[in-house]
Amino acid sequence: MTANSSNEIKDWCTTHLTEKIIRKIDNDQTSVVRSYKDFAGNGWFESLNIFEDPETFRLLIEAGKIVSGYSSAISNIIGVNYVCAMMLTTFGNDHQKEIGKKVLTGDILTCFSLTEHDAGSDIQNIKTTATQTDTDWVLHGRKYLSTGAVVSDYILVVARTSTDKPLNKGMSLFLVPREAGGIEIFPLEKIATNEYASCEINFDSVRLSQDSIIGGQDLGWGVIAFAGAVERLMIAASCVGLSLTILKYLNEYTGQRIVQGRPLYEIQLINHQLVDMTIKIKAADLLLTNAVELLISGKTPTLEICGAKVFASEMQQEISLAAMKIIGGRGYLKEYPVERWLREGLLSLYAGGTNELQKNIMARHLQKKF
Ligand SMILES: Cc1cc2nc3c(=O)[nH]c(=O)nc-3n(C[C@H](O)[C@H](O)[C@H](O)COP(=O)(O)OP(=O)(O)OC[C@H]3O[C@@H](n4cnc5c(N)ncnc54)[C@H](O)[C@@H]3O)c2cc1C
Repeated sequence: MTANSSNEIKDWCTTHLTEKIIRKIDNDQTSVVRSYKDFAGNGWFESLNIFEDPETFRLLIEAGKIVSGYSSAISNIIGVNYVCAMMLTTFGNDHQKEIGKKVLTGDILTCFSLTEHDAGSDIQNIKTTATQTDTDWVLHGRKYLSTGAVVSDYILVVARTSTDKPLNKGMSLFLVPREAGGIEIFPLEKIATNEYASCEINFDSVRLSQDSIIGGQDLGWGVIAFAGAVERLMIAASCVGLSLTILKYLNEYTGQRIVQGRPLYEIQLINHQLVDMTIKIKAADLLLTNAVELLISGKTPTLEICGAKVFASEMQQEISLAAMKIIGGRGYLKEYPVERWLREGLLSLYAGGTNELQKNIMARHLQKKF
């Protein structure tokens, strides 16, 4: 990473993620993986340890904003892989750290598998288990909505390792080679970013080596709590980035579109909406920056992180929908990018946990705080 990395990332996006290319990679899995490898191959992120190297983490958040302003599919694949890389390089053993570094350079792809059919918001209901034998671990269960599984080399899987203990004291995170015997993957069709499929995965007595656990046996809760915090910040960053792109587009569009003899922008009802968007994007960005800085300083800013995610994602939905109205009937056409932004942006409502879940967490922390 150099002082100029952020500008280099912008330049990379301008060249590699033009509107024409983004349309082309829509529904094309190979192109998305190729783009990820190309992005990561630039070497902007050789390691990702928030506390040892805060600058790299700041750059990751900045990259999240920049890339999502061009393509949600690419920011999605970067987000999934870099959060996995962070878990591997921060909590992993030497071998896992090496894999994490290769994820950061695009040589290896990973994904994260926590959610199950009956364990989304209700994570306490996780049923997947890993049982230890004399020689190995045996993983058994079915996961849901694991994004990127079908193109990944490794899957980071959450499983119960002590069924007699509460989940936060009895779960572990496993590094599972996708090619291990007993794994079946089924891509699920989505309303957007199908080129980076979310998948159902069946683990049928998958045998894993003794050293497959990341971060220690029964200690998975701490690892995924940390990853969740980073993921929420990445989501907030992607909402800020996408919203900025929509605002820029609306400024240009309303300046050129003539309605009743004058540019749409001159109608106060329209330009006030753009002003409101500007204020909200700035507010979301400041909430995000505040949460990032608190995390880097070693604090556990749960209220700030969840708050930044809730505010940014709700703002981004509001802006996407307003854009659909502001550009009129063209908003409904595939020819214009606005409908794609609306569809792709909806992911922020679920990723990193729904906003209702964030507010439940915040409510618990508020009570402790006051
Ligand atoms: C495109 C996409 C990609 C995803 N990628 C991944 C991934 O890579 N890995 C992974 O593990 N998971 C992934 N997920 C899963 C995601 O984290 C879950 O969808 C999310 O946690 C919600 O779980 P659920 O869908 O089961 O909803 P449910 O738990 O069924 O919740 C349904 C609704 O009820 C609300 N609700 C539930 N409980 C409460 C409560 N106590 N109080 C108030 N409201 C409540 C929820 O907010 C939601 O609105 C992905 C999801 C999507 C849509």
